[in-house]
Amino acid sequence: MTDEKRHAEEAASQHRPRAKRRTRQRSIIQRVLLEANRPLSPHDILQAAQATAPGLGIATVYRAIHTMITEGLLVAVEIPGEAPRYETAGKEHHHHFQCRTCDDIFDIQGCPPAIQQLAPKGFRLEGHQVVLYGVCPPCTGMPA
Ligand SMILES: [Zn+2]
Ligand SMILES: [Zn+2]
Repeated sequence: MTDEKRHAEEAASQHRPRAKRRTRQRSIIQRVLLEANRPLSPHDILQAAQATAPGLGIATVYRAIHTMITEGLLVAVEIPGEAPRYETAGKEHHHHFQCRTCDDIFDIQGCPPAIQQLAPKGFRLEGHQVVLYGVCPPCTGMPA
């Protein structure tokens, strides 16, 4: 083996594990979000992911989230006054419910058509968000 070739192979084997680790981190984050089926904060993601990836740190989670947004895999759920949560991209149009006791955010399905009619005459509507506030079943002590 020529020196040059050996160098190339060493470089490749050094890069491969890092790329593999990154791919694994991403698939763990995606699985966590799919299983939760609601928007999660980076800390929620870390907590859930640590079951399968005990060595994972918060900085890595933030970095992975950032990359996954750039790649169109995740979207931020921005609720006024709240730290952003994240959900998988490409979900059907839906809205959110925030529990005022635990602060968790849940998906709600359905969209009242009357919302489209709220825009004043002459205004072109481009989108909307609906956030319901209340208490989630675990926080009310009722079974979900
Ligand atoms: Zn709650
Ligand atoms: Zn809607």
